[in-house]
Amino acid sequence: MTAEMGLRFVILGSGSRGNAAYLEAGSTRLLIDAGLSARQIRERVEAAGGSIEGLSGVLITHEHTDHINGLRVFCKRQAIPVFCNRYTFESMPEELAERLDVRLFENGRPFQLGAVEVESFAVLHDAADPVAFLLRTEEATLAIATDLGHATTLVRQRLRAAHVLVLESNHDVRMLQDHPRRPWSLKQRILSRHGHLSNEAAGEVIREVVSERLRKLYLGHLSKECNRPELALESALDALEEAGARHVEVEVACQERPASPFVA
Ligand SMILES: [Zn+2]
Ligand SMILES: [Zn+2]
Repeated sequence: MTAEMGLRFVILGSGSRGNAAYLEAGSTRLLIDAGLSARQIRERVEAAGGSIEGLSGVLITHEHTDHINGLRVFCKRQAIPVFCNRYTFESMPEELAERLDVRLFENGRPFQLGAVEVESFAVLHDAADPVAFLLRTEEATLAIATDLGHATTLVRQRLRAAHVLVLESNHDVRMLQDHPRRPWSLKQRILSRHGHLSNEAAGEVIREVVSERLRKLYLGHLSKECNRPELALESALDALEEAGARHVEVEVACQERPASPFVA
């Protein structure tokens, strides 16, 4: 019985080549994004002590390939409800969309998925209607916010509720600007309010949203070419130090393997 209880959260992989996370709360199991291959998702969930059998659903933040890449194959094997908002659904490739068992949600309107209350909220990013998630369980509240160019007042306010926060720390501004092979237009896109959060911007968000209840901070969606884990980490640690928040554990999530699970 006890194996069924409690909370387990694992970032399976994070970065521009694929994003997915796994949450288990009691007997409820779900995925947040499915941007890794179906096989990778299964292997990494199992390696982290979870199971993809009888998943309650897959929550989708937005339609970019690195968030939905594994969805078609993953949903072919078993009928899994896919939760997203209408514009995200309508922006998916047709041959994918027509195969999915989709349940539409409205931004800002929480719904219950087994033991998890799911709330989505809008973020600024160059997708149709991108969202971040606040996931409330009996044990803890998790906030997942990657892929945002700028953290609005709404976003900051929502993130403050988190015991576990996954925040984007995409690039080092200097490394991005100096990158020799990236076209100017792409640099502009990444740096814009609808692009991705830099280490510096993430630090600013951390300073503002850190609370007594925050226990674990995962930095995610790091750029392979325009960031280094130690730079992202340093920026976050500086921010926590400035906020006087030594109680928060920080970890940089990566593309190649799952981050260490948060268990409560
Ligand atoms: Zn992404
Ligand atoms: Zn994106």
